[in-house]
Amino acid sequence: MLNTLRKIVQEVNSAKDLKAALAIIVQRVRTAMGSQVCSVYLLDPESNRFVLMATEGLNKKAIGKVSMAPNEGLVGLVGSREEPLNLEHASEHPRYRYFAETGEERYASFLGAPIIHHRRVMGVLVIQQKERRQFDEGEEAFLVTMSAQLAGVIAHAEATGSIRGLGKQGKGIQETRFVGVPGAPGAAIGKAVVVLPPADLEVVPDKQVDNVEAELALFNDALEAVRQDIRALSAKLATQLRPEERALFDVYLMMLDDAALGTEVQLVIRTGQWAQGALRQVVNEHIKRFELMDDAYLRERASDVKDLGRRLLAYLQHARQQTLVYQDNTILVSEELTPAMLGEVPEGKLVGLVSVQGSGNSHVAILARAMGIPTVMGVVDLPYSKVDGIDLIVDGYHGEVFTNPSAILRAQYAEVVEEERQLTQGLDALRELPCETLDGQRMPLWVNTGLLADVARAQQRGAEGVGLYRTEVPFMSRERFPSEKEQLAIYREQLQAFHPLPVTMRTLDIGGDKALPYFPIKESNPFLGWRGIRVTLDHPEIFLVQTRAMLKASEGLDNLRILLPMISGTHELEEALHLIHRAWGEVRDEGTDVPLPPVGLMVEVPAAVYQIRELARQVDFISVGSNDLTQYLLAVDRNNPRVADLYDFLHPAVLQALRIVVDGAHAEGKPVSICGEMAGDPAAAVLLLAMGFDSLSMNATNLPKVKWLLRQVTMEKARELLAQLMTIDNPQVIHSSLHLALRNLGLGRVINPASALGAAL
Ligand code: PEP
Ligand code: MG
Repeated sequence: MLNTLRKIVQEVNSAKDLKAALAIIVQRVRTAMGSQVCSVYLLDPESNRFVLMATEGLNKKAIGKVSMAPNEGLVGLVGSREEPLNLEHASEHPRYRYFAETGEERYASFLGAPIIHHRRVMGVLVIQQKERRQFDEGEEAFLVTMSAQLAGVIAHAEATGSIRGLGKQGKGIQETRFVGVPGAPGAAIGKAVVVLPPADLEVVPDKQVDNVEAELALFNDALEAVRQDIRALSAKLATQLRPEERALFDVYLMMLDDAALGTEVQLVIRTGQWAQGALRQVVNEHIKRFELMDDAYLRERASDVKDLGRRLLAYLQHARQQTLVYQDNTILVSEELTPAMLGEVPEGKLVGLVSVQGSGNSHVAILARAMGIPTVMGVVDLPYSKVDGIDLIVDGYHGEVFTNPSAILRAQYAEVVEEERQLTQGLDALRELPCETLDGQRMPLWVNTGLLADVARAQQRGAEGVGLYRTEVPFMSRERFPSEKEQLAIYREQLQAFHPLPVTMRTLDIGGDKALPYFPIKESNPFLGWRGIRVTLDHPEIFLVQTRAMLKASEGLDNLRILLPMISGTHELEEALHLIHRAWGEVRDEGTDVPLPPVGLMVEVPAAVYQIRELARQVDFISVGSNDLTQYLLAVDRNNPRVADLYDFLHPAVLQALRIVVDGAHAEGKPVSICGEMAGDPAAAVLLLAMGFDSLSMNATNLPKVKWLLRQVTMEKARELLAQLMTIDNPQVIHSSLHLALRNLGLGRVINPASALGAAL
């Protein structure tokens, strides 16, 4: 059964549009279940009716014509109850409705299963049989499993249809809304540029081109380049391989020859397909043919074709990258955005980001917030490879993406973009003013940095120090670990740029969703695995080189602070402190005269919350990493869009933990800061002020908004609000009460500039 299921899903997945996908479903399911009829009804959201979209067995003329409301017929019953229905004699059921167009009077028994995707009923899958009989449990289970698997595929095909105009009943291209999660606030209107994973033929989309000759030239260049590579490889291995083994390279060259792959791809290009799409089609056909062969040797040749396809694609993609001209309003779309991709678009051209994977707490989203680029993450239903070149709206406030937006929607969002611009401009005036409440309580606002551009942004916005310098960011954009000397130069630049303001440098925090290309960590549960301080304590050479570079970089500046990530107990802290002392001793022995800088630890793991006093005693300061603390307290992977709605730093458990940390650190006489994204949320910042945090560290983009809001409240009001919210046990109620209270104080404008739009949409 599993095999049949997999085969059907695979086949449906590669269908060219929704109509073809549904046709395959009804044919294959009918055969697999040995029934006489299989039909799919899809719910049309406009008419709220289940429409017969495909059938094998019923009269095909009824397709698109027969439909029923959720309160009509057996199909309506399955859809509205969201449960399967298994009837031996359908016409005896009180909800049975007879449709003459379908000719279904001949069929006695009925088995229907709802098609549900992400809690939304999309339609109903039905099989029918002439003879009176109850379908058995196995058949029922098969249909239910089938429809659960097909739900995602149908949703994908439907979405592709509305984007490319191949949707239901030829409705043409339509404005379509895709829901994800907010990544970075702001709205953007622009054109999609899809970044595909390198050399992955499977995800290459079809694309029509006008300039066939240019595509042919690109392909011929790629062919020649791969030919040369293979000849070079063959020559290089000449001494190590036997002649018959080297013959494989000749086979490769023959496959590339004009009479084989080469000519076929050229033929497809001549039909107007771009070179990459043509290559995918031809290579896939060859692979399929080889894989079906009985001869094991010939079956193996499928992997050679795959390899050649990958090599050709890499050259084609490289050529495209070289000639790609980014337009002014580029919106990058990718299956999984990476920090490196953000740098690909020239400065000033990138207006928005969309990622199918990841959530608002992924590190790429944190970087996007720092850069002030509206971002939507976790748009799992977006057929991303199909959107290249089409118009998009990115709503980073609500976590929504609109494809092919109408003129009305564009105008609404243009207003939001303009409002946001005016707000930012208005806040520029705050740069020189202190962050101080109406009743005179100071709250130092620091910035989080990592990218080079953060320095200028932080200075423009009047930051009072760096609360978190993520050292892993410069490590990520290299091809090997930077040497002590290279690190020294990077850190010195950072320390000098902010001097005499303090700069808090965190020791390397890799693992989780932060990978170094040259130091891969493969784990099935990376956020609970080898991360942060665990990695660097296991590699003291990395830790020592890094701390030595930091210490040397601070010579004569004395504004360095060292911060330790992911500490989960005193043993790790003691080991790290020991290494820092060792590095300090070494650099002094080498003649660098620097004082021992203040050392602090991050509270990110719940264990550290409950050991806060023991930990605080041994360090100079505490900094809460609320991003990780929230993920670990609530057991919600910060990177997983499926559970993104459960991730909430205003959850009462998080608020209580923060209180414990502040009180514990203060009881030991140590200052406590917070550098998670929560600190940059203006409304949450009011609560952090009331809790007694000594400083807040955030991305430079949000700093003016936080400053503006804290300058409008009194400490007394903030404490009153916190006391009221700490009595509430429901996170949603905490959010709405907080926002309502701030709106009532006339302070709503920095909370969410697009909230009015949310109501209008
Ligand atoms: C945090 O976890 O809150 C934090 C600031 O660290 P990062 O987001 O880099 O994991
Ligand atoms: Mg962290």
